[in-house]
Amino acid sequence: MDSALPRRTQRPYPPRDPQPCPAPSPPRRQGRGYGRALLSVLALTGGIYLARHAHPSSLHAPSVAHAARLAGPHAHRVSPLLAATVALPPHVRVERPPVADSYLPTDTFGERSARGLNITGATSHRLILFTFDDGPDRSTTPELLDRLDAAGVHAVFFLAGDRIRGDNQQQRDQAKIARDEVRRGHLVGNHTVDHRALPTLDSSVILEQLDASERIFQDVFGERPWLFRPPYGVHSERTDYLVESHGYTIILWNLGTGDPQVRTAEDVHTTWSRVFARRELENGERGGVVLLHDTHQWSVEGFTLIYDDLMARNCKLLEEGAELYDIVDDPSLFFAARNGAPAGTEAPPADVPAAVLAARQARVREATERRCHAVAAR
Ligand SMILES: [Zn+2]
Repeated sequence: MDSALPRRTQRPYPPRDPQPCPAPSPPRRQGRGYGRALLSVLALTGGIYLARHAHPSSLHAPSVAHAARLAGPHAHRVSPLLAATVALPPHVRVERPPVADSYLPTDTFGERSARGLNITGATSHRLILFTFDDGPDRSTTPELLDRLDAAGVHAVFFLAGDRIRGDNQQQRDQAKIARDEVRRGHLVGNHTVDHRALPTLDSSVILEQLDASERIFQDVFGERPWLFRPPYGVHSERTDYLVESHGYTIILWNLGTGDPQVRTAEDVHTTWSRVFARRELENGERGGVVLLHDTHQWSVEGFTLIYDDLMARNCKLLEEGAELYDIVDDPSLFFAARNGAPAGTEAPPADVPAAVLAARQARVREATERRCHAVAAR
């Protein structure tokens, strides 16, 4: 289980408010000058990349190396092992999508978002990414997958390696469920092997954990992961450096739900609502990364309550002509290239180009109009 608080052990910071708020943003480490400089570079290069690279991730990544990687042959490579073991859905395509199609395909192992900065998800746009930690769990995850399918939502699952390795029946079942997550279009990321708090471990042990978890991914999927979430959200400059040495982007969260601490779906939804309101009020954050755990039944049901809430809000926002909540499956919308910044630097808030947002919003608006009119007609 994770605490709802992502935190750095070497730079403790006061939560913005006491309980029950479970998820203050991690501290912002770099100065404003860095952010301004990066935004200037993005402004200068964004137009060129918008013209040359269709996917929005490229618009956050002005480095030549990153652009080359985006355009490279591995951008949407699906491993032979994975292809052989699961029936890939039609949306797992091999070419990159144009901007207007930027919903899909997903980047299953997060390679497109590799080597980024620490992502909290803080954004002024109504972009929402659901993430689920600690699974899979054969008693709860299958129902969640059905609920996500019904909602048309693709999420990121941060997998605990020891749940899917080994030969006992439970581990075999859960490895199968993990492959099912990929088959249904979700992303999978690394949540270590046995879920120990990284800052308590020697550096050699952390590197062993990374190696071991990547071997497990190779065994189960035929691919290594590129997205990483530290257990409990705890990390330090030392652990960030070690994780970065393996090429990961660290994904934290800004929208906690407190789901390890509560026992009902209603409480999951209530906590999320409070955090969500507070993020907007205090920080102007209208979207971000939601943290849930697919190991709890109340979290599985809580997802649906949060999703239904967002859809209801969209009906009202549609009437107001306002930006709609856009449930995304692409961490690159929150992604900033490292560009020489030290490991562990928190990414500047996402600066998604207007053209990308407009294309996405047009799609969401169309779906929202259909859905809300159907609801109203009942
Ligand atoms: Zn966890």
